[in-house]
Amino acid sequence: MLGSLLLAASRNPLARRAVSALPPTRRVVDRFVAGESAGDAVTAVRRLTDAGLTVTIDHLGEEIRDTEAAALTAKAYVSLLDALAPLGLGRRAEVSVKLSAVGQALDEPLALEHARRICAAARDCGTTVTLDMEDHTTVDSTLSILRALREDFPDTGVAIQAYLFRSEEDCRDLSGSRVRLVKGAYREPASVAHQSKAEVDRAYVRCLRILMAGTGYPMVGTHDDRLIAITETLADRYGRSQDSYEYQMLYGIRTDKQEALAGAGATVRVYVPYGDDWYGYFMRRLAERPANVAFFLRSLRGK
Ligand code: FAD
Repeated sequence: MLGSLLLAASRNPLARRAVSALPPTRRVVDRFVAGESAGDAVTAVRRLTDAGLTVTIDHLGEEIRDTEAAALTAKAYVSLLDALAPLGLGRRAEVSVKLSAVGQALDEPLALEHARRICAAARDCGTTVTLDMEDHTTVDSTLSILRALREDFPDTGVAIQAYLFRSEEDCRDLSGSRVRLVKGAYREPASVAHQSKAEVDRAYVRCLRILMAGTGYPMVGTHDDRLIAITETLADRYGRSQDSYEYQMLYGIRTDKQEALAGAGATVRVYVPYGDDWYGYFMRRLAERPANVAFFLRSLRGK
């Protein structure tokens, strides 16, 4: 219930203004967001890669409303990739892109053009791009842009959300590709998505099995210990070595687990968001975990 309210608020402009104006919000946001500038992101990337982790960097922003903002997002990614190039991290630092931030809702060919620019800059930097997945109305468009990108940039990855009924089929279609499997973070109707945690978890395992049995590169995007244990079992069953799949977790969430898995030889990629448009991302993180809301409220009371 609280989660649904927070997800509704994540797309409400009045709630956005109210929450963003609260003075202590920044401190709480810092737990989940690496900073506002590309420099902040690069600092976080250095720290995480020095600790044996890999990263995927997200320039925060979504659902932009004009073509100028779309062009600015693409430019921000290209500048970020230019700043990463001298670090020589190659695929240890890639980027994640929300197509809504490069104009998907305004003009799909324009979003494809911007995404191509970002993929080209990533290739020059020796790395890859993964497309985030947003609400269910965008999935067909995102997969169609992915197909177009993969003609020139075959290593482009995509996130698939286990809670959508369609996702097992999508995993089958993509089982030779780089696929980040996640549970799904948006408020979706019962006509398209599983609603209970148990159903979502079971759907996740079905999708995971398809990806681990396939020939692609599964990116297991979860903090859930049970799903991580099942991944290990499936890796054994399908004869996958540790370098043929990876774990992905969000910046600031279960850092102990991130380090423990990396210490045991797994590839662990941390999703590092940065930028000033943190509201939607932050609200989805609150919605995932009531304890985060309590933490937020305590900070408002100055504790
Ligand atoms: P849960 O059952 O939600 O959590 C398992 C445990 O992880 C919890 O018990 C808790 O200990 C910890 N945990 C989980 N979330 C939080 C939190 N917010 N704060 C503190 N602790 C927490 N969703 C999309 O819809 N599209 C995407 O493109 C997308 N990309 C993602 C990329 C990455 C790398 C990751 C890790 C997630 C992404 N997500 C995306 C979000 C995802 O859909 C889930 O909402 C999120 O990962 C929580 O699910 P979980 O699998 O960790 O399981």
